[in-house]
Amino acid sequence: MITVQGLTKMYGGFKAVDDVSFECRPGAVTGFLGPNGAGKSTTMRIIAGLTPPTAGEARIGGILYQDIPNPGTQVGVLLDASAQHGGRTGREILTMSAIMMGLPMSRVDEMLNLVSLTAGESKRRVRNYSLGMRQRLGIANALLGDPKILILDEPANGLDPAGIHWMRSLLREYANRGGTVLLSSHLLHEIEVIADEIIVIGNGRIVAEGTKAELLQTAGTFVKAGDMSALANALTSAGITASPSGDAGLRTEADPETVGKAVATAGVALVELRPAEGAGLEEMFLELTGDTQREQRPTEGVQA
Ligand code: ADP
Repeated sequence: MITVQGLTKMYGGFKAVDDVSFECRPGAVTGFLGPNGAGKSTTMRIIAGLTPPTAGEARIGGILYQDIPNPGTQVGVLLDASAQHGGRTGREILTMSAIMMGLPMSRVDEMLNLVSLTAGESKRRVRNYSLGMRQRLGIANALLGDPKILILDEPANGLDPAGIHWMRSLLREYANRGGTVLLSSHLLHEIEVIADEIIVIGNGRIVAEGTKAELLQTAGTFVKAGDMSALANALTSAGITASPSGDAGLRTEADPETVGKAVATAGVALVELRPAEGAGLEEMFLELTGDTQREQRPTEGVQA
């Protein structure tokens, strides 16, 4: 379990993370979704004990990251796949981690196999790795100590479609075995396909959270009739607010059953009635974060 409570991070006068609270439960993949600059990495760095918060706290299994004994065996962290010494080989990086965690060397080969880095690739220097290979190595490093919790910042970046598919299956199985996964992405589709729970962040603040089903539900209903003005009247009389949507239909916040009953009562013949999932999270994401996109950046180089 990861518990984030009232987390705020100021960089000078700039609030990068603003009173953020959420929980990630075991057995689920929690997707942390937000546009670039929303505050995802800062939040994850605070959880992993790399950046001190200005206010609030983040606990893992009830304790602060810095107080976890042999943390790599409890929490696997991948925040920046390129943050490795470029002159070391992939195998050397995993070997050093294994030594630090007191693990048998057999884990190194197991993890290399798991992430499909070949023997030849594992002997190449990381500076010559593609971003996708670095991500695979980073995931191997995060899983090395067989932790029950994984924190991954944009792990899909640089992976090819087959790599993304592989990572999804890996995380799904990991969560199904009771693991806790917090994974960030600025790509809606990534989160939509993998996450059970979703936290949407914009401008440093949580703007929506819930299970995927709950968030999709808030997408409302798409409805279309031959006689659109009769449809609009029927919805208005039932107190349902509707707005024009693509495909010459209407979109409502109400669920399909409520809309269906309202138009049936009014005797309007429908051409289409369905959950507005076509856009789904995407529409919600754009609505929620569109006007909270950062327009100004703080002065670069302020240190944590
Ligand atoms: P995300 O991971 O969602 O893209 P970040 O957490 O990296 O967002 O950044 C959130 C905001 O905080 C951005 O505007 C970024 O420029 C700013 N920021 C992050 N780290 C620092 C820092 N060390 N100094 C100043 N500003 C920072």
